[in-house]
Amino acid sequence: MLLTIFINFYILAKVKCSYCDKPAIYYDGKKYYCKEHFLEYFKNLAFKAIKEFNMFSPGDRVAVAVSGGKDSVSLLHFLTKHKDELELKEVVGLAIDEGIKGYRDVTLNYLKDFAKKHNLKIKIISFKEEIGLTLDEMFELTKKYNLGYWPCTYCGVFRRWLLNKYAIEHFDVLATGHNLNDEAQTVILNLAEHNIKDLAKGGPVTGIKRHNKFIKRVKPFYYITEKETTIYSIVNKLNVPYIECPYARGAFRIYVRDLLYKMEHVRELHENIIKKYLSFRDKLQKRYNFELKTCKICGFPTTREICQACQLRLTFQKLKEKNL
Ligand code: SF4
Ligand SMILES: [Zn+2]
Ligand SMILES: [Zn+2]
Repeated sequence: MLLTIFINFYILAKVKCSYCDKPAIYYDGKKYYCKEHFLEYFKNLAFKAIKEFNMFSPGDRVAVAVSGGKDSVSLLHFLTKHKDELELKEVVGLAIDEGIKGYRDVTLNYLKDFAKKHNLKIKIISFKEEIGLTLDEMFELTKKYNLGYWPCTYCGVFRRWLLNKYAIEHFDVLATGHNLNDEAQTVILNLAEHNIKDLAKGGPVTGIKRHNKFIKRVKPFYYITEKETTIYSIVNKLNVPYIECPYARGAFRIYVRDLLYKMEHVRELHENIIKKYLSFRDKLQKRYNFELKTCKICGFPTTREICQACQLRLTFQKLKEKNL
C-alpha cells in the first residue's frame, strides 16, 4: 500500500489538481486533488458521516481508541484539529497496553512522542494493572495448560471491556478509526461466516440506549478508504510506525481485503457494500434485538449472567495462582 501511494505521488505530480494549479497527490476515480484540496475532501467525507449519523453532540467529551496504527492516530489528529468546529469539549486518546513485547512497547513509545509533538492528550490503560497479567503471560499460560485459545480472542474481549470501563466513567463518546474498507470487509466476513448477530450489532454508531453502562461508539471515518487515511497520515507527517502484532492472524480477512482491492472501482465497490448493508441493518437489529443483562461481577452489559471479560479474568487468575 505505502509503496503504491508513493509511486502514485510521483506519477500524479505531473497532473494538476482539478480545483487549482497545484500538482495532484490523489485521484479518487473522478477528480484530482492537491494537498490542500485533498485535506478539504477528507474533511468533507468525515463530517458527512459525523453529521449523517449524529455521532457527536455539542459539549461531548470524546475518547479516541488509539492503537498506534495510521487510522486511529489520524482520527485522534483529525478530531483534535476540528474539536472547536465540532463543538467538542475535549478529545483524548485512549491506548491499551496489552503487554506484547517488541510490538506494543514500540507503538506506545511512538504514541507518547506523537502526543508531545502535536500537543495531544493520551491515557494508557494496562492489562497488567487492570487484569493482573500481560497478554504475553496469558499466552504462556494458555500454552502450558493447553487451553487452545488464540491471543486475539481474549485480547479483543479485554480491550473492548477496558475501553468501555474507562470511557463510560470519563467520556460521552468513544470514537474508533474503522474505515470504509474495514467496514465493507466486516460485512462480507460476517455474511460469509453466517454471523448475522454480529452483522446486526455493527454500523457507524453503536452502544446507544441499550444499557446505561455501554458507551456510545462512533466511526467518523466510515466513508473514508484505507488509502485515504494513509495519505492523510503522510500529508500531516504523522510518521506512524508500520509494525504488526506478532499474534496477528486473520488470513480470511486478508484474503477478503485483497480480493476487494483487486476489483475495479475500489471506492465505489466498498461504498456499495456499505450502502446495501445500511439499507437492511435496521431490520436486522429489530430481529436480533436481544435483551442486554448486567454482569453480576463488573456491572457492565452482557447477554449472559457473567460477561465474557469477567469469565476470562477468573480463568486467568486461577491459572496464575496454580502456576505460582
Ligand atoms: S493482533 Fe490480536 S493479539 Fe495482536 S493486538 Fe490485535 S487482537 Fe491483540
Ligand atoms: Zn488544489
Ligand atoms: Zn463482567
